[in-house]
Amino acid sequence: MGRGLFSSLFKCRCGVVAVVRMAKIGDNAGMKFFGCPKWPVGDCGIFQWVNVSNGVDAALRFKLFEKKTSLAVKEMEVDFMKDRIEGYGEEIRHEDRGFE
Ligand SMILES: [Zn+2]
Repeated sequence: MGRGLFSSLFKCRCGVVAVVRMAKIGDNAGMKFFGCPKWPVGDCGIFQWVNVSNGVDAALRFKLFEKKTSLAVKEMEVDFMKDRIEGYGEEIRHEDRGFE
């Protein structure tokens, strides 16, 4: 689990993939954050702490959510097909009755 997971999700306002930097001063020294790759030349001012417990979870949850969503869509399609098949079954039964 590396930067790939983040970089695929987190882009700065320039539309480029944000880079992870480490705070060197202050109370948060040693903590990592996302920043603009163009910094310090012309960064767009984005700043986002890399919170491991939230960041990774959020990224993973997002991936999982995507998977679940596509799975749910497939399940809906299956249900829809089942309904249609059952519907046809009903029609056929009705027709059968008509011939009785
Ligand atoms: Zn930027």
